[in-house]
Amino acid sequence: MEVKYSKWVKPYDTTKKPLRQAKLFTFILWAGSKVIMAFQPYKVEKINMEGFERPYLLLSNHHYFVDFYLNAIATYPNSVNNIATIDGYYRRPFLMEWLGCLCKRKFTTDISLVRSIKYCFEELKSVVSLYPEARYTPIGTTAILPDSLGKMVKMCGVPVAVLLHHGNYLHTPFWDHDHARKVKLHSTLTGILTAEEVKKLSADEINEKIREAFYYNEYEWQKKNNIRITEPFRAQGLHKVLYQCPHCKTESRMNSKGTEIFCEACGKRWEMDELGELHALEGETEFTHIPDWFEWERSEVRRQVREGSYHFEDEVEVYSLPEPWRFRNLGKATLTHDETGFTIKGHYNGEDYCIHRPAQGMYGLHVEYDYVYIKPCDCVDISIENDSFYCYPTLQNVVTKLSFATEELFIMHKEKMQEEKLKKRQKLAAKGNP
Ligand SMILES: [Zn+2]
Repeated sequence: MEVKYSKWVKPYDTTKKPLRQAKLFTFILWAGSKVIMAFQPYKVEKINMEGFERPYLLLSNHHYFVDFYLNAIATYPNSVNNIATIDGYYRRPFLMEWLGCLCKRKFTTDISLVRSIKYCFEELKSVVSLYPEARYTPIGTTAILPDSLGKMVKMCGVPVAVLLHHGNYLHTPFWDHDHARKVKLHSTLTGILTAEEVKKLSADEINEKIREAFYYNEYEWQKKNNIRITEPFRAQGLHKVLYQCPHCKTESRMNSKGTEIFCEACGKRWEMDELGELHALEGETEFTHIPDWFEWERSEVRRQVREGSYHFEDEVEVYSLPEPWRFRNLGKATLTHDETGFTIKGHYNGEDYCIHRPAQGMYGLHVEYDYVYIKPCDCVDISIENDSFYCYPTLQNVVTKLSFATEELFIMHKEKMQEEKLKKRQKLAAKGNP
């Protein structure tokens, strides 16, 4: 049961053929990015890029909006087709189309996107720029990359380059977009696979190469380069990703202020030092390295998912974006998340609607902590082929856990499927060799 809109609402056609980025636009983007970055120290280093001719696929990690400027600088003077999400088109779909963008709804399977990417390579001979993590990094480390990446590269048969940004997360972490820290940015553009190598390697081997090149850990980077973040607000917002107390295990009662993160249930406090390490003010320090705390939370969610005890239900306020001109307030709805996936049940325009996304079809979840387009609070975006639903929970500080649970449910279903396949194969083999 989809949402019934008035007849004037026409969902945005994401299958549109992408346009070639005009040379003038490529220049304007490059020059504009240079101007915007004029007062921000940064370096773009190119490795193994001699003779790297377009068309090629560019994969970048994603920290903050500044990544787009650095991408424009790194790829100049090549014509680029960027893959952007529907909310990037908000109020400016024509501009996005003229810039040569390809529209995608997050974490949906989109066959027409592969067709559009192939068109960019074969007809437009351009660079296709993709952020395979599909969102800003929550903790400054590599996120899950989809297995489909290797298959797509193999199908397109083009060289692959990786643009790895460093410092952008430390400068403006996803959990605190309001305050910038003084950090120098460093991006490396590396050619990782030639067209001949793509031809020779299997999709799995290509995935392995990409994952190897895509490794990053911003807190390791900070320490290695002795980057001191002296701002007195450096821990502010950190509780959005470190939502569970490692001392009393309470979830969603963490908070942060200044240089400290603390639990409102048991009162334990930790200080973030200038090199990004945590220290308990009293008692044992459970995790000095911030990503370790984050991964511990993931392991807690994994345990609940595997035990079958994971369940989420809440009243949410829903805004949808069928076409990019305006968000539509669909009012209150119920959002549930369990081993079957996400379900939104609500009522709009005189009719009930029910949106379901199965867990095995979503390898990640689009989470926002401070969403600029609707209202600056935590929300999750659950998309289907022709619509996106931005859900604002009533419960506080729960969206990071939803994102972990999405990833863990996907992994669990994938493992189950592989087990079943193996069993079937064994059965067939047993029949063939009695
Ligand atoms: Zn606690």
